[in-house]
Amino acid sequence: MTEAVQTETLQKFRDGFYKVMVCTSVGTEGIDVPDCNIVISYNYSGDEITKIQMKGRSRKKGATIVVMGDEKQLEQEMINAYKANMMYKAISELKNINARAVEHKLKMFQTDEMQKLRYKTEYEKAKKSRRSEDDLEILCRRCNSMACLVSDVRKLGSQHFVIAKDFPSKITTKPHKSPKKYDGIEKKGKMYCKKCPLDWGIVADRDGVDLFILKLQCFKLRNMRTGIVSQHKKWLDVPYDVPELGLEDIPKFFRNETEENASPE
Ligand SMILES: [Zn+2]
Repeated sequence: MTEAVQTETLQKFRDGFYKVMVCTSVGTEGIDVPDCNIVISYNYSGDEITKIQMKGRSRKKGATIVVMGDEKQLEQEMINAYKANMMYKAISELKNINARAVEHKLKMFQTDEMQKLRYKTEYEKAKKSRRSEDDLEILCRRCNSMACLVSDVRKLGSQHFVIAKDFPSKITTKPHKSPKKYDGIEKKGKMYCKKCPLDWGIVADRDGVDLFILKLQCFKLRNMRTGIVSQHKKWLDVPYDVPELGLEDIPKFFRNETEENASPE
């Protein structure tokens, strides 16, 4: 059927010259027949949009839509009807909202989304630029004695702590007067450089494991390849991507304990 014939046929149906029109699913789209009072859909169901469009085909008051098909189709039709009703409800609710308020909300939403996108892009950029393959030595800020390597540091939430086995031999500790618990971590004591003795941070207990949480301001970092020394106030500024504590790190804690237990008295 050519488009001209299609248009003519449709016009004749609209004018009432044809009383019935048989068509494929194309009949649900973009055809407007105000006087049509019954639509029979045979073995066909699309989605809720089709449903609404089909309803548009039969806009006459009291018009009927009949769906013929198997149970699966019936189920789909019921879902479509439900979704279409939700859509009508949402649209009518939207109509009741003041246009200015909608515009204002939209603008706020857009600004917010743009801001988020900007932050995300900047963050990704910053993350990439500070990532370095070079390991860094973490040195006591006052006496230069080495604490550990930055590759021995792991992140757990906002805390950065050392997982190097020999780290406890480089510090002295003092118990905390009033141990504080937060985020599942108990502040047990303070740790100091064994040599000078600068305050290096805190010793915390998490599920029976000692965590040596470094106070970054008390250290300087030396790039092992270039020898460049830097100081940072925030871990975010450290040119190394400190990994989160992973499952693979856990044996390091336990190996530590078993080796201590196995060592001769
Ligand atoms: Zn020191």
